[in-house]
Amino acid sequence: MGLTSVKEFIELSKSKNIPLWQVVLESDCDDTGITKEESIEKMTLLWQTMKNSSKSYNKNDKSASKLVGGDGGLMQEYILSGKSISGGIIPEVIKEALKMGECNACMKRIVAAPTAGSCGVLPAVLIPFQKQRNISDEEIVKSLYVSAGFGQIIAYRASISGAEGGCQAEIGSASAMASATLVYLCSDDSISDVADKCANACAMSLKNLLGLVCDPVAGLVEVPCVKRNVIGAVNAISSAEMALAGIESKIPVDEVIDAMKEVGDLLPSSLRETGKGGLAGTVTGQQIKFMMNNI
Ligand code: SF4
Repeated sequence: MGLTSVKEFIELSKSKNIPLWQVVLESDCDDTGITKEESIEKMTLLWQTMKNSSKSYNKNDKSASKLVGGDGGLMQEYILSGKSISGGIIPEVIKEALKMGECNACMKRIVAAPTAGSCGVLPAVLIPFQKQRNISDEEIVKSLYVSAGFGQIIAYRASISGAEGGCQAEIGSASAMASATLVYLCSDDSISDVADKCANACAMSLKNLLGLVCDPVAGLVEVPCVKRNVIGAVNAISSAEMALAGIESKIPVDEVIDAMKEVGDLLPSSLRETGKGGLAGTVTGQQIKFMMNNI
């Protein structure tokens, strides 16, 4: 049986005095019967695949619908122009999120983290961050266990599916996972304090995207999905920054996850990946759908 609450996750880390990533590694080995070495090998492959997806990006590729493609290239040109408002790592994060979302729309190989629609969030923060801080692949792989732990709990208590819980369940979950991961990578506190800060980052990320609906135009994981990866990634960074500053979520993370489930259950079906409501239901969204159906 895997982890069912963040409270349990944190308590295991504290009682065993092992970091969060090790709790998830041990849980994975118990559940699947594989060795620690085999588990780490699999996680390393996922990380390499994320990096390879980023490298394989081609700004000239377009999705079959032609709705998506090239925005990662435009972002790169903008960064090189030196005109970025925020500067630093943020424009790089935006670029990576666009690239990965576009790779998914163009049917390239990506890592669902936790889903294909939200595949851009984790690599968008980790790839630039690894370069900026010169972090080893081994350390990034450990941090991916932290994200997997939080993702597993969200999936258990709520959902990671847009069709079930809206986009909050996809981009929101990815953002929460990435935020906790960043805190793990940045914090030099004790095992116990890091665990608490990861939980706060997860809670704040999820809270910030609570209620986000799933409204893909023409039912394609393209518009608004690619750009939502950007907000998921940037939200992950801002929530991680707050958690690292010692700012806490007033609502405990497990209750935030449960609230996400409640909100997801209340969403009408038109806002749960049916391609009918929200942006999909706009005049332009319907025109695009009509065109797609008549190609
Ligand atoms: S809008 Fe729906 S399909 Fe698109 S990323 Fe969000 S949850 Fe996935």
